[in-house]
Amino acid sequence: MALSPEGRERIVAANRGRTHSALHRSRVSVALRGGKNPQWKGGKTISRDGYVMIRVPSHPRAEPNGYVREHILVYEAAYGSLGSGLVVHHRNGDNQDNRLENLQALTPSEHMKLHRIPTNSRWVKIPRIGGRG
Ligand SMILES: [Zn+2]
Repeated sequence: MALSPEGRERIVAANRGRTHSALHRSRVSVALRGGKNPQWKGGKTISRDGYVMIRVPSHPRAEPNGYVREHILVYEAAYGSLGSGLVVHHRNGDNQDNRLENLQALTPSEHMKLHRIPTNSRWVKIPRIGGRG
């Protein structure tokens, strides 16, 4: 083993952790970064903008990385394919609450109106045109 002095120091520092290594802690913080209500499960991930993502590369709405927003899959499982014109909105404003009763299909313009209501600061963020749930 030809470890550089810096490499050896890093290993010693990691082993000094009491319950979790520094590497484990950094992995956890990456997993939690995306959402306010994180649930780290196999097969799911949280997008940078806070949506639950499921890997379904064959889905027409899959992103280049093969992931689809879970709320779209939940809605389509109940009501059939959305096509390309509609977005799925979270009624209670929680973008990770993907229970069917929290979901509502809207046109992009209807959707933007809902998100412009200024009385609740959680809803002030304007979704991208073309539809983020
Ligand atoms: Zn919405």
